[in-house]
Amino acid sequence: MSEFDYDLFVIGAGSGGVRAGRMAAAKGVRVAIAEDLYLGGTCVNVGCVPKKLYVYASHYAEGFHEAKGFGLDAGPVQFDWARLRDNKKSEIGRLNGIYGNLLRNAGCEVIDGRAVVTGPNSVQVAGTTYTAERILVATGGWPFVPEFPGSEHAISSNEVFDLETFPKKVIVVGGGYIAVEFAGIFAGLGAQTDLVYRGDMILRGFDQEIREFTAQEIVKKGINLCLETNITRIDKQSDGTLVAEFTDGRKVEADQILYATGRKPKTQGLGLESVGVDLADNGAIRVNENFQTNVPSIYAIGDVIDRVQLTPVALAEGMALVRHLYEAGSADVDYDLIATAVFCQPNIGTVGLTEEQARDRFESIEVYRSEFRALKHTLSGSEERTLMKMIVDKATDRVVGIHMVGDDAGEIIQGMAVALKAGATKAVFDSTIGIHPTAAEEFVTMRQPARN
Ligand code: FAD
Ligand code: NDP
Repeated sequence: MSEFDYDLFVIGAGSGGVRAGRMAAAKGVRVAIAEDLYLGGTCVNVGCVPKKLYVYASHYAEGFHEAKGFGLDAGPVQFDWARLRDNKKSEIGRLNGIYGNLLRNAGCEVIDGRAVVTGPNSVQVAGTTYTAERILVATGGWPFVPEFPGSEHAISSNEVFDLETFPKKVIVVGGGYIAVEFAGIFAGLGAQTDLVYRGDMILRGFDQEIREFTAQEIVKKGINLCLETNITRIDKQSDGTLVAEFTDGRKVEADQILYATGRKPKTQGLGLESVGVDLADNGAIRVNENFQTNVPSIYAIGDVIDRVQLTPVALAEGMALVRHLYEAGSADVDYDLIATAVFCQPNIGTVGLTEEQARDRFESIEVYRSEFRALKHTLSGSEERTLMKMIVDKATDRVVGIHMVGDDAGEIIQGMAVALKAGATKAVFDSTIGIHPTAAEEFVTMRQPARN
């Protein structure tokens, strides 16, 4: 008989925690999982899933206009925000239920409430202390909004999904994934949208040409892109309208101001410091290659360790940890060649090295590039263009990076990631017969490098 209540106590039922908890329970491990807000975590409730539903909505809005060129008249198009928001709410409610069932059916005990670590083997939730041989912290992250006069009037991605009314005028601050995606959602659904970024080009870290091309495309869709500026204060007027003052003294009115300025690991008030768990300056939990903290019985995975803030990465870390703890072996996660998409309009899909990184890493590279107006848009009337890029290490002929801005780039790049993981050379791409007519076939028909 074990001296502990559980073998594994998971804190946080988000992407990583649920996967780890379910997998461990399926192996006969006695698992409890505590959640204080919503089953499924950020991704299901205020992240990937509702975001993608809103991206679909915004694509539909565009589709009505584009249908005309194909002989379809839709009449005046009206957008009902409350219907979209409430349909989204019901779907998320359904998913919360599914997550609860998945956990319980796997044999996990689900504990409602905020967990605090009180010792190397003990956790407290709502006044009750539970003991466990191991504790897994999977508490994710929380939006970071800088403090400045009036910053309390700004909203974050936590609030944006459930706004009472849809804004006529919105300012989105930030130049990363969330800012670019939400600027696209708002603009697509008819809000006058300013995207405000402090640097000279959005999406730092992405391939430079992809960044610039995306910026041009989103401007075509009606986003007012304001670079090298920032908000210094926000005032709320008596009618509820917000006035943002900028670094250059300019004042702009808006109904909502969304700050998408990054996320911080959620470790505050978790009791980790009192138990001696080592944290980085930004609050991230430091772990070794097996996701173990310096307190041997405490482990952490997902956004809270601040490696790669993506759902599939949290899932992979959860599965690797369970294999390591309950099947023996190391908790290896291959962080190389993680494909990712930004669901702006058009999408960005990317895997591998940027052109800049490849130039630094290899003596000689070839860059293949194709830019075109997609077949659909020859009749849709849209000015949208597609860019596809492939970067090849000349010495080995290995394809080391693939990037795309265009319809369904997120869908297309997933397959490309498999090819790159398998070590595909440019010759392999060249010998692959394309699917016609698609945009994706360009990746197997690029014959001449655009530059070396
Ligand atoms: P989370 O999913 O955040 O789960 C942590 C859970 O722990 C939460 O449910 C929280 O309530 C709970 N918790 C925290 N503290 C406690 C406590 N003390 N006691 C009990 N419970 C606690 N990723 C993608 O791959 N694709 C996307 O398209 C995408 N879109 C996104 C869009 C937005 C707007 C945001 C914000 C994120 C998006 N992400 C996306 C990132 C993705 O959501 C995260 O990487 C992922 O959810 C991380 O999983 P996690 O398990 O580490 O944490
Ligand atoms: P990001 O880190 O992607 O972007 C944050 C942005 O805010 C950057 O442009 C940054 O600028 C800017 N910023 C930071 N601090 C300030 C400040 N004080 N004032 C003004 N601007 C500031 O974070 P997000 O919040 O967009 O998203 C968090 C993470 O969630 C992402 O990194 C991603 O991993 C994940 N995610 C994934 C999605 C997907 O897979 N499709 C979608 C949404 C989120 P600078 O570049 O100059 O530092």
